This record gives sequence, structure tokens and C-alpha cells, in this order.
Amino acid sequence: MEPLVHILLPALILLAFLPKYKKEVLLFSLFAILPDFDTYIPHSHRIIFHNLLFISIVVLIVYIISNKFNAILSSYYLLSHLILDIEYPGTAFLYPFYNYFIGFKIKIITIAGNLIPQFKFDMIITPIIESFKFTESTYFGNISVMFLVLIILAILIYYCKKQ
Ligand SMILES: [Zn+2]
Repeated sequence: MEPLVHILLPALILLAFLPKYKKEVLLFSLFAILPDFDTYIPHSHRIIFHNLLFISIVVLIVYIISNKFNAILSSYYLLSHLILDIEYPGTAFLYPFYNYFIGFKIKIITIAGNLIPQFKFDMIITPIIESFKFTESTYFGNISVMFLVLIILAILIYYCKKQ
């Protein structure tokens, strides 16, 4: 998913609930793109920085050098990254203890005679070793483009209503 979506989506949700903490919410939103730095390490994307052990270590460091509130903010952004990356092949949530990607194939389907589309989720578990066979775009995916369009629409509607 695109870095911009990883930052904007959780930050906008948090700003709606914590409008008093704008500075902290925006500053810590940078944690939302931290896991994607494993892109620059060969055969490591969605593995070494995309798991609960890595998140725990980062949150513990934030807690030690800062405070509990900032540790909660950083864990929120880091976990949001893993959730937004859930689309196939998913992420290696339990690496290095479980060397598989856990992800979902998400399809929007319509059933004959029913005009309302439905989401179909198929859980896919892929061995990490399989991921070396394909290369995926870090910056563009179907779901992320859809989220980005929704965010832009929401911002446009908000500003049109304000005027
Ligand atoms: Zn990622």
C-alpha cells in the first residue's frame, strides 16, 4: 500500500477522536511507514519489519525514551500498517516464530438477482520462501488506490461544506 495511505488513513481516524493532540498525532503518523523500510533489504519486504516482534521492540524503545501515551500512539500506527497490508500476500505477522505470510484475498462480488455487492474474504497462508518468486509494487495496489480516492473525496466534501 502507498506510504501516503498508510499515513493519512490512521491519522485522520485518530484526529477525529483526539483533536486536542494534533501535534502528537501528526508527528507519530510517521511510524505508519516505518515497516516499509524493509523494502530496501533484499528478500525482506513484508517480513522483518512487518511482524509483532518488531512492533513490540519499537514500542518498548518509544516507551523507555518517551512516555506511555507516545508508546500507544506508535503501536497504533505500526499495527495499522500491518492491517492495511493484509491484502494478499499479507504480512509475516508472527515472524520469526512462524515463517508464513498471513493475508486475505478480498473480492467484491455480486450474486445474480442481488444488486448489492458483497465482500468476499479468503484467508491465504503463504510460506515466506514463496514470496521470493514474485515482486509486488510497494507503492500501488487496488485497495490503496480506492482508499486514496475515498480520502480525497472526504476532504473535498469537508471543505465544500465548510464554505
Ligand atoms: Zn508494508
